[in-house]
Amino acid sequence: KDWTLPGISVNYGVRFLGICTKNESAFTISILTNHEFEPPVVPPATAYTLSRCDQTTREQVRMDPVDVIVGGDGSKSTVANTSGIRKRQLETFFTRRGDLERKINVPGLKQVSMVLDFKLSNGTCPKTRTDVRGTDPYYVGFLVKGIAAVFKRFYYGHCQMQLLFTREAGMEIMNGASSLGGKEANLPWNTVLRVCKVVLKKPYKSQKHLKQALLHTCSGNSICASIVPVSIDLASTTSTILRTPEPSHVSISEPRHVFSEPSHVSSSANFKAESKKRDPEPEHVSVGSGGLEPGHVSGESESGQVSEPRHVSGGSGARDGVVVLLVGDALSTAHYRLGVGINTGFRTSKAIGLALRESYKGKSKEEILVGIERIFRENVGGILEIVLDLQGSTMYYETYCGLIVFFDHSSDDLLKAQSLYARGSKLGEYNPIDDSELATLCAD
Ligand SMILES: Cc1cc2nc3c(=O)[nH]c(=O)nc-3n(C[C@H](O)[C@H](O)[C@H](O)COP(=O)(O)OP(=O)(O)OC[C@H]3O[C@@H](n4cnc5c(N)ncnc54)[C@H](O)[C@@H]3O)c2cc1C
Repeated sequence: KDWTLPGISVNYGVRFLGICTKNESAFTISILTNHEFEPPVVPPATAYTLSRCDQTTREQVRMDPVDVIVGGDGSKSTVANTSGIRKRQLETFFTRRGDLERKINVPGLKQVSMVLDFKLSNGTCPKTRTDVRGTDPYYVGFLVKGIAAVFKRFYYGHCQMQLLFTREAGMEIMNGASSLGGKEANLPWNTVLRVCKVVLKKPYKSQKHLKQALLHTCSGNSICASIVPVSIDLASTTSTILRTPEPSHVSISEPRHVFSEPSHVSSSANFKAESKKRDPEPEHVSVGSGGLEPGHVSGESESGQVSEPRHVSGGSGARDGVVVLLVGDALSTAHYRLGVGINTGFRTSKAIGLALRESYKGKSKEEILVGIERIFRENVGGILEIVLDLQGSTMYYETYCGLIVFFDHSSDDLLKAQSLYARGSKLGEYNPIDDSELATLCAD
């Protein structure tokens, strides 16, 4: 059903499948579907990647002409996949202590986490203790080995508990889960029982009682709780311009990563200060063989130097194109203990508005496309950088250094707001960490 917002017609229940070209113009291919996207009635979306529309026309598939695509379709973004934008895992980030910035590289940076959803009982979640045992997310770590923190999201009819494990415990759990086939019986139920004993008013007597309190049924191979090695996945570029094909067909070039790769692989204890440079870089100009092709009008030379944008507007050789902009989890996933997911979604969406204002300024379509992409990239780059550094450094301090990260909410700089503490010898005692201690604490 179509609903109308001022100036916009919204089609609900439509699944985006890909982008194709028809008569040298770009079209999106989508299919009218139910809200759950089930049952699948067409082959996977990748079948429609960068192809000509006449190769993809099937019953039930609809096509809409398009100039700008905003991919807000989550962490498994079909918009990104079908635009040739790859995902990679965040491993390099900057920390900021005082005025000193350090570049840290942690191969395979992740934090193992377990998420449990409890049933409502008489309309309420399990009652949590009102003292420090139930209110301090880090207190459990004093009493239950292997636990770094426990966060509860018990509101609005949802009762979700998230356990964050220490690095050693996380590795042990992941190794056990994979070697034993990932069955629920192999999840760390005894640890969960002990956690519930600390934080809940009425803890469970046994694993059986605990599992019965969960929303999803635990039986055989069915999943009633999930263990996830949380990593931050980010798109290789914030945005791209896909070009319609030229008459002479050459091969499609690979998209390049936006952020500079680390020049060396350093250990987690590497504290060598390096100058900060992670500006988004435009991708190669490319020419392609069939459908739309990834590539900006500005490019990076073989030597790695970013060249000036090549404006092709007004020229007879200008090819039509479509701008693809990524927002939210499609651009970068969120480590949800930090609450950056929703905020970043809104902040990057604002950049869409700023970018689209360009459509009123450009003289030709080419100028408009290039302007939209540039303004979006400029506005999103800074936001993304802060969010990635915040997430990378917090995961690093907590998981690889065994520290606790509190935040000074009066600070206007998110990274400087991080206050580092270590657990003391007494229950509930947190001792501030001097920066000079970090190198020792974070050593392998
Ligand atoms: C358990 C959990 C707890 C979290 N807690 C917090 C928190 O406390 N605070 C916080 O800030 N963040 C939290 N997050 C993160 C936050 O939920 C995400 O960062 C945020 O939802 C991302 O929003 P999004 O719109 O980019 O993507 P999504 O919310 O994933 O929305 C994407 C939408 O696109 C649709 N879609 C997908 N593919 C297609 C397609 N091909 N065609 C059409 N539509 C499509 C999907 O159906 C979906 O509706 C949490 C995440 C999880 C998993």
